[in-house]
Amino acid sequence: MMLRVIAGFAVMAASSTIAQPRQAPLEIAVTIDDLPVHAPYPPGVTPEQVSEQMIAALKAGHVPVTGFVNAVRMQEQPGTERVLNQWHDAGAVLGNHGWAHRHLNEMTVAEFEDELVKDEPALKQRGGGADWHWFRYPFLDEGKDEKQQVAARQVLREHGYRVAAVTTGFSDWAWTPAYARCAAKHDAAGVAELERLYVAAVKQSIVDDREAAHKLYRRDIPYVLLMHVSAMSAHMMPQVLRIYRQAGYRFVSLAAAESDPAYRGYTDLSLPPPPSRGEAARLKGVKLIAPPDYSGTLDRICA
Ligand SMILES: [Zn+2]
Repeated sequence: MMLRVIAGFAVMAASSTIAQPRQAPLEIAVTIDDLPVHAPYPPGVTPEQVSEQMIAALKAGHVPVTGFVNAVRMQEQPGTERVLNQWHDAGAVLGNHGWAHRHLNEMTVAEFEDELVKDEPALKQRGGGADWHWFRYPFLDEGKDEKQQVAARQVLREHGYRVAAVTTGFSDWAWTPAYARCAAKHDAAGVAELERLYVAAVKQSIVDDREAAHKLYRRDIPYVLLMHVSAMSAHMMPQVLRIYRQAGYRFVSLAAAESDPAYRGYTDLSLPPPPSRGEAARLKGVKLIAPPDYSGTLDRICA
Protein backbone atom coordinates (compact mmCIF):
# COMPACT_ATOMS: atom_id res chain seq x y z
CA MET A 1 0.00 0.00 0.00
CA MET A 2 2.82 2.32 0.96
CA LEU A 3 4.52 1.55 -2.34
CA ARG A 4 1.34 2.30 -4.22
CA VAL A 5 1.04 5.73 -2.59
CA ILE A 6 4.66 6.56 -3.40
CA ALA A 7 4.25 5.38 -6.99
CA GLY A 8 1.11 7.51 -7.34
CA PHE A 9 2.98 10.55 -6.12
CA ALA A 10 5.80 9.89 -8.58
CA VAL A 11 3.35 9.72 -11.47
CA MET A 12 1.84 13.07 -10.48
CA ALA A 13 5.24 14.68 -10.09
CA ALA A 14 6.36 13.41 -13.46
CA SER A 15 3.21 14.43 -15.29
CA SER A 16 3.60 18.00 -14.05
CA THR A 17 7.12 17.89 -15.52
CA ILE A 18 5.79 16.54 -18.80
CA ALA A 19 3.28 19.38 -19.01
CA GLN A 20 6.07 21.97 -19.04
CA PRO A 21 7.41 22.99 -22.43
CA ARG A 22 10.69 21.31 -23.24
CA GLN A 23 13.45 22.60 -25.43
CA ALA A 24 14.16 19.23 -27.01
CA PRO A 25 12.37 15.89 -27.27
CA LEU A 26 13.24 13.17 -24.82
CA GLU A 27 16.08 11.00 -26.07
CA ILE A 28 17.03 7.42 -25.33
CA ALA A 29 19.81 5.11 -26.51
CA VAL A 30 19.03 1.38 -26.59
CA THR A 31 21.83 -0.93 -25.45
CA ILE A 32 21.57 -4.73 -25.38
CA ASP A 33 23.83 -6.77 -23.09
CA ASP A 34 25.11 -10.35 -23.10
CA LEU A 35 25.45 -10.97 -26.83
CA PRO A 36 25.38 -13.63 -28.16
CA VAL A 37 23.69 -15.71 -25.39
CA HIS A 38 21.41 -14.73 -22.52
CA ALA A 39 20.01 -17.98 -21.11
CA PRO A 40 17.76 -19.79 -20.25
CA TYR A 41 15.74 -20.13 -23.47
CA PRO A 42 12.30 -21.63 -24.04
CA PRO A 43 12.61 -25.21 -25.36
CA GLY A 44 13.57 -25.28 -29.03
CA VAL A 45 14.38 -21.56 -29.18
CA THR A 46 17.92 -20.68 -30.24
CA PRO A 47 20.04 -17.60 -29.54
CA GLU A 48 19.96 -16.95 -33.29
CA GLN A 49 16.15 -16.86 -33.39
CA VAL A 50 16.00 -14.53 -30.40
CA SER A 51 18.45 -12.10 -31.98
CA GLU A 52 16.66 -12.26 -35.30
CA GLN A 53 13.37 -11.34 -33.61
CA MET A 54 14.90 -8.52 -31.58
CA ILE A 55 16.80 -7.10 -34.55
CA ALA A 56 13.65 -7.17 -36.70
CA ALA A 57 11.79 -5.02 -34.17
CA LEU A 58 14.68 -2.55 -33.86
CA LYS A 59 15.07 -2.35 -37.64
CA ALA A 60 11.37 -1.80 -38.18
CA GLY A 61 11.55 1.11 -35.74
CA HIS A 62 14.81 2.50 -37.23
CA VAL A 63 16.33 2.31 -33.76
CA PRO A 64 20.12 2.68 -33.42
CA VAL A 65 21.50 0.05 -31.07
CA THR A 66 24.71 -0.93 -29.32
CA GLY A 67 25.19 -4.57 -28.29
CA PHE A 68 27.69 -5.71 -25.67
CA VAL A 69 29.56 -8.94 -26.29
CA ASN A 70 30.95 -11.73 -24.09
CA ALA A 71 33.06 -13.53 -26.67
CA VAL A 72 33.59 -16.60 -24.42
CA ARG A 73 30.09 -17.78 -25.37
CA MET A 74 31.18 -18.46 -28.95
CA GLN A 75 33.75 -20.86 -27.58
CA GLU A 76 31.21 -22.48 -25.24
CA GLN A 77 28.47 -22.68 -27.87
CA PRO A 78 29.97 -23.01 -31.35
CA GLY A 79 27.70 -21.48 -33.96
CA THR A 80 26.73 -18.49 -31.85
CA GLU A 81 29.20 -16.33 -33.78
CA ARG A 82 26.35 -16.17 -36.30
CA VAL A 83 24.44 -14.11 -33.72
CA LEU A 84 27.18 -11.48 -33.71
CA ASN A 85 27.18 -11.46 -37.49
CA GLN A 86 23.42 -10.82 -37.47
CA TRP A 87 23.84 -7.78 -35.22
CA HIS A 88 26.77 -6.52 -37.22
CA ASP A 89 24.90 -6.92 -40.52
CA ALA A 90 21.97 -5.00 -39.01
CA GLY A 91 24.25 -2.02 -38.40
CA ALA A 92 24.59 -2.40 -34.62
CA VAL A 93 27.67 -1.11 -32.85
CA LEU A 94 29.24 -4.04 -30.98
CA GLY A 95 30.94 -3.08 -27.72
CA ASN A 96 32.98 -4.88 -25.05
CA HIS A 97 31.24 -6.56 -22.07
CA GLY A 98 34.34 -8.49 -20.98
CA TRP A 99 35.37 -11.93 -22.24
CA ALA A 100 33.51 -14.00 -19.63
CA HIS A 101 31.18 -11.58 -17.79
CA ARG A 102 33.17 -11.56 -14.56
CA HIS A 103 32.67 -9.35 -11.51
CA LEU A 104 35.33 -6.65 -11.42
CA ASN A 105 35.38 -6.80 -7.62
CA GLU A 106 36.50 -10.46 -7.82
CA MET A 107 39.41 -9.75 -10.17
CA THR A 108 42.84 -8.19 -10.07
CA VAL A 109 43.39 -5.24 -12.36
CA ALA A 110 45.60 -7.43 -14.58
CA GLU A 111 42.76 -9.96 -14.89
CA PHE A 112 40.37 -7.15 -15.75
CA GLU A 113 42.70 -6.08 -18.54
CA ASP A 114 42.86 -9.68 -19.83
CA GLU A 115 39.05 -9.85 -19.89
CA LEU A 116 38.97 -6.63 -21.89
CA VAL A 117 41.64 -7.58 -24.42
CA LYS A 118 40.44 -11.17 -24.93
CA ASP A 119 37.04 -9.88 -25.98
CA GLU A 120 38.46 -7.57 -28.63
CA PRO A 121 39.12 -9.86 -31.65
CA ALA A 122 35.38 -10.61 -31.93
CA LEU A 123 34.66 -6.87 -32.00
CA LYS A 124 37.53 -5.90 -34.30
CA GLN A 125 36.48 -8.53 -36.82
CA ARG A 126 33.04 -7.02 -37.01
CA GLY A 127 33.85 -3.44 -36.10
CA GLY A 128 33.79 -2.15 -39.64
CA GLY A 129 33.72 1.62 -39.57
CA ALA A 130 31.92 1.79 -36.23
CA ASP A 131 33.80 2.67 -33.07
CA TRP A 132 33.58 -0.46 -30.94
CA HIS A 133 35.59 1.06 -28.06
CA TRP A 134 32.66 1.08 -25.67
CA PHE A 135 32.78 -0.89 -22.43
CA ARG A 136 29.83 -2.00 -20.32
CA TYR A 137 30.83 -3.27 -16.87
CA PRO A 138 29.42 -6.79 -16.28
CA PHE A 139 26.88 -6.64 -13.42
CA LEU A 140 27.46 -2.84 -13.63
CA ASP A 141 30.26 -3.56 -11.16
CA GLU A 142 32.65 -0.60 -11.39
CA GLY A 143 35.02 -1.91 -8.69
CA LYS A 144 35.10 -2.82 -5.00
CA ASP A 145 36.58 0.50 -3.86
CA GLU A 146 37.84 3.75 -5.24
CA LYS A 147 41.35 2.41 -5.74
CA GLN A 148 40.15 -0.42 -7.95
CA GLN A 149 37.66 1.83 -9.69
CA VAL A 150 40.40 4.29 -10.64
CA ALA A 151 42.78 1.50 -11.73
CA ALA A 152 40.13 -0.11 -13.98
CA ARG A 153 39.31 3.26 -15.53
CA GLN A 154 43.01 3.75 -16.24
CA VAL A 155 43.08 0.38 -18.07
CA LEU A 156 40.03 1.35 -20.10
CA ARG A 157 41.54 4.71 -20.92
CA GLU A 158 44.83 3.18 -22.07
CA HIS A 159 42.88 0.91 -24.42
CA GLY A 160 40.88 3.82 -25.82
CA TYR A 161 37.48 3.02 -24.30
CA ARG A 162 34.51 5.04 -23.21
CA VAL A 163 32.13 3.55 -20.65
CA ALA A 164 28.52 2.81 -21.49
CA ALA A 165 26.64 4.13 -18.47
CA VAL A 166 23.11 3.02 -17.57
CA THR A 167 20.57 5.70 -16.69
CA THR A 168 17.35 3.82 -17.25
CA GLY A 169 16.14 0.23 -17.23
CA PHE A 170 13.61 -2.13 -15.76
CA SER A 171 15.63 -5.25 -14.85
CA ASP A 172 14.43 -7.09 -17.95
CA TRP A 173 16.82 -9.95 -17.11
CA ALA A 174 14.54 -10.89 -14.19
CA TRP A 175 11.91 -12.17 -16.67
CA THR A 176 14.30 -14.53 -18.50
CA PRO A 177 13.84 -17.74 -16.41
CA ALA A 178 10.10 -17.24 -15.87
CA TYR A 179 9.47 -16.83 -19.59
CA ALA A 180 11.42 -20.02 -20.36
CA ARG A 181 9.35 -21.90 -17.73
CA CYS A 182 5.99 -20.63 -18.99
CA ALA A 183 6.92 -21.40 -22.60
CA ALA A 184 8.00 -24.93 -21.61
CA LYS A 185 4.62 -25.49 -19.94
CA HIS A 186 2.68 -23.85 -22.78
CA ASP A 187 1.13 -21.72 -20.04
CA ALA A 188 -0.54 -18.89 -21.95
CA ALA A 189 -1.98 -17.30 -18.80
CA GLY A 190 1.48 -17.29 -17.27
CA VAL A 191 2.96 -15.61 -20.34
CA ALA A 192 0.17 -13.02 -20.31
CA GLU A 193 0.94 -12.22 -16.67
CA LEU A 194 4.65 -11.85 -17.50
CA GLU A 195 3.77 -9.50 -20.35
CA ARG A 196 1.52 -7.41 -18.10
CA LEU A 197 4.22 -7.07 -15.44
CA TYR A 198 6.88 -6.30 -18.05
CA VAL A 199 4.83 -3.45 -19.54
CA ALA A 200 4.14 -2.10 -16.05
CA ALA A 201 7.86 -2.21 -15.27
CA VAL A 202 8.78 -0.30 -18.45
CA LYS A 203 6.23 2.41 -17.70
CA GLN A 204 7.25 2.68 -14.05
CA SER A 205 10.93 2.97 -15.00
CA ILE A 206 10.14 5.91 -17.28
CA VAL A 207 8.50 7.76 -14.40
CA ASP A 208 11.13 6.85 -11.80
CA ASP A 209 14.20 7.43 -13.97
CA ARG A 210 12.97 10.79 -15.27
CA GLU A 211 12.22 11.73 -11.68
CA ALA A 212 15.78 10.76 -10.70
CA ALA A 213 17.26 12.81 -13.57
CA HIS A 214 15.24 15.83 -12.52
CA LYS A 215 16.44 15.46 -8.96
CA LEU A 216 20.08 14.91 -9.91
CA TYR A 217 20.42 17.15 -13.01
CA ARG A 218 17.32 19.35 -12.80
CA ARG A 219 16.40 18.24 -16.31
CA ASP A 220 15.90 15.28 -18.58
CA ILE A 221 19.18 13.87 -19.79
CA PRO A 222 19.44 11.66 -22.88
CA TYR A 223 18.84 8.28 -21.25
CA VAL A 224 20.86 5.12 -21.79
CA LEU A 225 18.61 2.07 -21.56
CA LEU A 226 19.94 -1.33 -20.50
CA MET A 227 18.23 -4.43 -21.87
CA HIS A 228 19.42 -8.00 -22.50
CA VAL A 229 19.28 -10.30 -25.49
CA SER A 230 16.68 -12.54 -23.83
CA ALA A 231 13.77 -14.39 -25.42
CA MET A 232 11.33 -12.35 -23.30
CA SER A 233 12.81 -9.01 -24.31
CA ALA A 234 12.87 -10.04 -27.99
CA HIS A 235 9.20 -10.96 -27.64
CA MET A 236 8.42 -7.62 -25.97
CA MET A 237 10.62 -5.32 -28.07
CA PRO A 238 7.88 -3.96 -30.39
CA GLN A 239 5.83 -2.97 -27.34
CA VAL A 240 8.84 -1.50 -25.55
CA LEU A 241 9.62 0.75 -28.50
CA ARG A 242 5.98 1.78 -28.77
CA ILE A 243 5.83 2.71 -25.07
CA TYR A 244 8.89 4.95 -25.35
CA ARG A 245 7.59 6.61 -28.53
CA GLN A 246 4.21 7.25 -26.92
CA ALA A 247 5.98 8.76 -23.90
CA GLY A 248 7.68 11.27 -26.22
CA TYR A 249 11.12 9.70 -26.70
CA ARG A 250 13.16 9.51 -29.85
CA PHE A 251 15.89 6.93 -30.26
CA VAL A 252 19.51 8.06 -30.54
CA SER A 253 22.87 6.32 -30.66
CA LEU A 254 24.85 5.63 -27.50
CA ALA A 255 27.52 8.10 -28.66
CA ALA A 256 24.89 10.80 -29.18
CA ALA A 257 23.33 10.21 -25.75
CA GLU A 258 26.67 10.21 -23.98
CA SER A 259 27.79 13.42 -25.68
CA ASP A 260 25.64 15.08 -23.00
CA PRO A 261 27.74 16.60 -20.17
CA ALA A 262 25.89 14.37 -17.67
CA TYR A 263 28.06 11.50 -18.98
CA ARG A 264 31.45 13.21 -18.87
CA GLY A 265 32.66 10.97 -16.06
CA TYR A 266 32.05 7.99 -18.37
CA THR A 267 33.44 9.41 -21.60
CA ASP A 268 36.50 11.14 -20.15
CA LEU A 269 38.24 8.50 -18.07
CA SER A 270 40.96 10.92 -16.96
CA LEU A 271 38.37 12.40 -14.61
CA PRO A 272 37.74 10.99 -11.12
CA PRO A 273 35.11 8.20 -11.09
CA PRO A 274 31.59 9.64 -11.07
CA PRO A 275 29.54 8.97 -7.95
CA SER A 276 27.05 6.10 -8.07
CA ARG A 277 23.41 7.08 -8.32
CA GLY A 278 23.00 6.56 -4.57
CA GLU A 279 26.07 8.64 -3.75
CA ALA A 280 24.98 11.39 -6.14
CA ALA A 281 21.60 11.53 -4.42
CA ARG A 282 23.24 11.75 -1.00
CA LEU A 283 25.54 14.54 -2.20
CA LYS A 284 22.58 16.50 -3.56
CA GLY A 285 20.47 15.79 -0.49
CA VAL A 286 17.68 14.20 -2.52
CA LYS A 287 15.88 10.89 -2.15
CA LEU A 288 15.47 8.61 -5.12
CA ILE A 289 12.72 6.02 -5.47
CA ALA A 290 14.12 2.50 -5.12
CA PRO A 291 13.50 0.47 -8.30
CA PRO A 292 10.61 -1.96 -7.82
CA ASP A 293 11.69 -5.56 -7.30
CA TYR A 294 9.62 -7.97 -9.36
CA SER A 295 11.79 -11.02 -8.73
CA GLY A 296 9.66 -12.56 -5.96
CA THR A 297 6.50 -12.28 -8.07
CA LEU A 298 8.25 -13.57 -11.18
CA ASP A 299 9.65 -16.58 -9.31
CA ARG A 300 6.12 -17.73 -8.52
CA ILE A 301 4.84 -17.56 -12.12
CA CYS A 302 4.82 -20.96 -13.90
CA ALA A 303 6.85 -22.34 -10.97
ZN1 LIG B 1 25.73 -8.59 -18.72
